[in-house]
Amino acid sequence: MAIQWFPGHMNKARKALEERVADIDVVIEMLDARLPASSANPMIARMTRGRPALKILNKQDLADPAVTALWLDWYRARPGTQAIALDAGEKAPSQKLIAACRELAPNRGGLDKPLRVLICGIPNVGKSTLINSLTGRRIARTGNEPGITKGEQRILLADDFELFDTPGMLWPKIEVPEGGYNLAASGAVGRNALDEEEVVLELLQYLARHYADLLRARYRLDTVEGLQDFELLEAIGRKRGAMLGGGRVNVQKAAEIVLTDFRAAAIGRVSLERPDEWRVWEKRAKEE
Ligand code: GDP
Repeated sequence: MAIQWFPGHMNKARKALEERVADIDVVIEMLDARLPASSANPMIARMTRGRPALKILNKQDLADPAVTALWLDWYRARPGTQAIALDAGEKAPSQKLIAACRELAPNRGGLDKPLRVLICGIPNVGKSTLINSLTGRRIARTGNEPGITKGEQRILLADDFELFDTPGMLWPKIEVPEGGYNLAASGAVGRNALDEEEVVLELLQYLARHYADLLRARYRLDTVEGLQDFELLEAIGRKRGAMLGGGRVNVQKAAEIVLTDFRAAAIGRVSLERPDEWRVWEKRAKEE
């Protein structure tokens, strides 16, 4: 898979994480609720092993609520791990976040031992949006002050609660092929990283399997069952008037329509992976 990496940003993020992680009580990883496992960064897991962890399944407004519930259970079953679902419309995200972190580190708190929390996540997962909403009128301290690295932000969410935001970028590492497609569908890996048509065909195959009714309704299709992924894409193109001359479907245009619709949840609230599926995909990827 041809994905573009930016090693400079990644190294910066790794160094910042290495320096900060030693005196951190809880590590928050933000994930995309539609593709929690694919949007995780395996490096974060390796570097923060053994630390209490909070997984935030963000953009829950776009994801299938029943599947999000499965993922919350899956993460909560891990030792030292809490999980919450959030979206940008959440009125009081800091309350949810603070409560989950305090539960993970009950021995911390009070002015003499403030709870120190690190937040990280791959680009586009919604970290800036959440931090902006957390900051509100609170003052974020930045890396020009003692004890804070350049590029780092420290936000006091409460008198005894410090949230650190790492500089640099943590890219997803694609170890599972299905995960690569899901990241591309979500827009987390740039438009040209993977062949768009291939991404959409994978997406349609998954949606036809799990969300046939939603597909049928969105594109006014007579049937979804029995169609191959390419036939499905053509049928959608025809319904949407994405045509070339001679009655041929403009496949590229049809693919763009599907991608745009998926990203805006115009097809409906759908998730692209479930814990049991992920387990199978991961196993297969390791065996290959
Ligand atoms: P960052 O790269 O992790 O800092 O991501 P941003 O905060 O810049 O968000 C990436 C995109 O996702 C932006 O277009 C946001 O408006 C959008 N976004 C962020 N959070 C949510 C959410 O909870 N729900 C939805 N639907 N969109 C979100």
